[in-house]
Amino acid sequence: MNRILGKDALPEEELVERQLRPQFFREYIGQDKVKNQLEIFIEAAKHRDEALDHVLLFGPPGLGKTTMAFVIANELGSSLKQTSGPAIEKAGDLVAILNDLSPGDVLFIDEIHRLPMAVEEVLYSAMEDFYVDIMIGAGETSRSIHLELPPFTLIGATTRAGMLSNPLRARFGINGHMEYYELADLTEIVERTADIFEVEIAYEAAIELARRSRGTPRIANRLLKRVRDYAQIKGDGSINAHIVSEALALLDVDEEGLDYVDQKILRTMIELYQGGPVGLSTLAINIAEERETVEDMYEPYLIQKGFLMRTKTGRVATPKAYAHLGYAIQEKE
Ligand code: ADP
Repeated sequence: MNRILGKDALPEEELVERQLRPQFFREYIGQDKVKNQLEIFIEAAKHRDEALDHVLLFGPPGLGKTTMAFVIANELGSSLKQTSGPAIEKAGDLVAILNDLSPGDVLFIDEIHRLPMAVEEVLYSAMEDFYVDIMIGAGETSRSIHLELPPFTLIGATTRAGMLSNPLRARFGINGHMEYYELADLTEIVERTADIFEVEIAYEAAIELARRSRGTPRIANRLLKRVRDYAQIKGDGSINAHIVSEALALLDVDEEGLDYVDQKILRTMIELYQGGPVGLSTLAINIAEERETVEDMYEPYLIQKGFLMRTKTGRVATPKAYAHLGYAIQEKE
């Protein structure tokens, strides 16, 4: 489903996203904690003329992990090779990628928690001591080959740090925990994107759009594109707060940034389960989504905004959810 608030990039969005990607730290808005520590480590690595320690970036989709990986490579003056966990099926695939690296290169593996175990094991020695031992041939003629690799920096991105195995996690020297963006930072991102799109946006309109974007740049940029279209058709092309409200109402994004799926989750809990506790699987079945999708895409924001709570016995809708959706709080029998 092409959900307007979905955090994964839509295929046609990738081109636009590339155009919007900041290239260096000075253009990268927000995520100061991650940025500040990386700036120091990068400076130090450059000073010593060594490869930067391996970096693990984790946080929900759309927060700028891929962007950060490219920025790191640019700041290092290195080139970046990009792949993803699900794309590497066999150990041999990874060996081929590693063998192709030049000294100081950055290898970016998105969704690194989805690497098959046999592939992951190849990474251990590659990350730690820059070599791999590979078996070639089968049966009696098989033999092991020792392959030295150039020093390189692995950047892994994951939406779920908890799903990474301990041996893999331990091999990253630098951990960057990406957070949802503050309103001020996201507003600045909206203004920057509007600038690139060459569309005029009032400050109040930028704030309003940022407020409804779930603290996520990808969503802010996507909503801005839709609002720009609306402004062109219904107005004179420039964006004010009124246009934002109208356009987002049309897109079913409410004042808190919830779309109809978020609302359906909360309504299901309230109407069918008296607000909970409800098990995650039951909830997922009710809204016809995968359990993982609910856990990765919807829940974090609902929890962060205080609409939903995770308890030992299941998910619970909070009084704030009742109030927001206009339900009276029922006493439980
Ligand atoms: P992730 O890899 O975490 O899913 P991306 O790096 O692909 O996220 O970022 C999604 C989009 O948001 C990109 O188009 C990028 O240009 C934009 N973006 C992310 N972070 C920032 C930022 N700090 N400043 C400006 N734009 C950003």
